[in-house]
Amino acid sequence: MPTHQAHAAGYPRRRFLTNVGTGALVAGLGGAMPGKALAQAPLSESGRPVSRAQPFDMADVTLDDGPFLHAQHMTEAYLLELQPDRMLHNFRTNAGLDPKAPVYGGWESEATWEDINCHGHTLGHYLSACALAYRSTGDERFKQRIDYIASELAACQKAAGSGLVCAFPKGPALVAAHLRGDKITGVPWYTLHKVYAGLRDGAQLAESEASRAVLLRLADWGVVATRPLSDAAFEAMLATEHGGMNEIYADLYFMTGNADYLALAQRFSHKAILDPLARGVDHLDGLHANTQVPKIVGFQRVFEATGDARYQQAAAFFWRTVALTRSFATGGLGDNEHFFPMANFAEHVFSAKASETCCQHNMLKLTRALFLEDPRAEYADYYERTLYNGILASQDPDSGMVTYFQGARPGYMKLYHTPEDSFWCCTGTGMENHVKYRDSIYFQGDDALYVNLFVPSSVAWKEKGAVLTQATRFPEIPTTTLRWTLQHPTALTLKLRHPGWSRVARVLVNGSEAARSTSPGTYIDLARTWRTGDEVELHLIMEVAAEHAPAAPGIVAFTYGPLVLAGDFGREGLAPGTDIVVNERKYGSYNDAPYTPPALAGDPEALAASIRPSGEALAFTIPSATGEPVSLIPYHRVGHQRYATYWEV
Ligand SMILES: [Zn+2]
Repeated sequence: MPTHQAHAAGYPRRRFLTNVGTGALVAGLGGAMPGKALAQAPLSESGRPVSRAQPFDMADVTLDDGPFLHAQHMTEAYLLELQPDRMLHNFRTNAGLDPKAPVYGGWESEATWEDINCHGHTLGHYLSACALAYRSTGDERFKQRIDYIASELAACQKAAGSGLVCAFPKGPALVAAHLRGDKITGVPWYTLHKVYAGLRDGAQLAESEASRAVLLRLADWGVVATRPLSDAAFEAMLATEHGGMNEIYADLYFMTGNADYLALAQRFSHKAILDPLARGVDHLDGLHANTQVPKIVGFQRVFEATGDARYQQAAAFFWRTVALTRSFATGGLGDNEHFFPMANFAEHVFSAKASETCCQHNMLKLTRALFLEDPRAEYADYYERTLYNGILASQDPDSGMVTYFQGARPGYMKLYHTPEDSFWCCTGTGMENHVKYRDSIYFQGDDALYVNLFVPSSVAWKEKGAVLTQATRFPEIPTTTLRWTLQHPTALTLKLRHPGWSRVARVLVNGSEAARSTSPGTYIDLARTWRTGDEVELHLIMEVAAEHAPAAPGIVAFTYGPLVLAGDFGREGLAPGTDIVVNERKYGSYNDAPYTPPALAGDPEALAASIRPSGEALAFTIPSATGEPVSLIPYHRVGHQRYATYWEV
């Protein structure tokens, strides 16, 4: 194993830049599909896979009209509506400064949620979201907000005489009690991690010097504050949810080379989770899901910093077991925020409180990180599936607000937060989700360009003097067209993802068939010297399929390519606005008048075969048990109506 310093020295700065914050995209055969043995990537002498990928800077990617760009615009508008001074209220109070504006509601201030101590998490997510939005769009208003918030936090640090900035009702006393091992309520490190991460993203993606200065002072406070803890006391503290504190200290190490930060990244790595996963033991039943996923993202980052293979083994094993054996068809996971025994799938699948959206956000961060290390189409398949059915599906296309749970209680509906009175965890990750779609459409390898997602967009590969433009109406039409603009004829391998859901993929170059793949879940390599105007068409096949639930043969979801099809039951009896809610704890009791959804009967494969297009794009019908047609639409297009994604047949 290389030393820490030696390993870091080999790291190009660009790799750090591209790793920060964004944590998105890469999808594999997710859903509730049975696990399958994964091919081992070839390893170099250093023990790392030979083939690695790097993301493109979002500033070099454009996004054209479509649902992703619409979602981005909705979030951009929300970010600009929010008032930094209101998010800063409790930070200033705790530093002994007068607040400049009233505090926001929900988790930020209301008595119902006082004990969870998430106060201030929103400011951290907000910084990350503004940094992602700035990197995506170049809109200076986002950078101005980042710089303003950072300058305010610097004023808090100065007034308090401490690097710690926090918004907890009891202020720094809560953190001190946690460090002493006292019994506390809430999740102080989870919340602080959001602030650290927001400042990191401000520093890295928006090049905010003020953010970097506040971050380093906060980071140094953390080093000093945790120094007295014995290893046992530290591990005991990690029994409480702590977000991705290991990830952020590994990032800080990459930013600075400071060995104290790397040591702390390792101390913040929860051994009770790391050790079994590194041995390939799935001990996840009953654990709080979103507490674990960010730790695993951190394991992969600590591996990148140390070369310690155990961290990587744990991350890859966790992904495999969660993405391939513990997820719903949508890529969501967990019931009531917890992993459950998959043998009991039938008891959990129809919960109104399954699939917390934060878990999908964090699983995509993990998937992306693993893809960079080992660029396999399987990761990209999962990324695509979860992006459509978990992330894009989480946003109200009309208000821009987002879901907490995306449960599959038949006939229930998506519930969205309010602009100023909810501020759930998923509100925070939701701010980030929709302003980073540019991040994971394309990746680069050694003289290779990966096309992972079929999204209307373009990418400029500056070092190659190359622009690749993608025109597509996917998923309405399972075809995409890529066109090169090049300064000079350039030898490159274009790696087109042949998704796991398409039996066959056919590629035309300048109108002639150049490749035909019958290996779903792989890349089609087109190695040639490209010239301006060269045009590549990828033709895929989208088919309706029945996806069986694990350990519950009578429970089925229907898919069309990567899309989960949902029964669309309309919104009869639902008053307008009743799906905009404040309190996430009441999921399952809002709008809970008894409702009997249409039933399906018969063999799942025969049912899938009976699904017919209804005439509109991506809309279908399936005959119910009584013979009446039931409307099916992509789950991501469900906005305000009652729906079903799983059926007991
Ligand atoms: Zn959440």
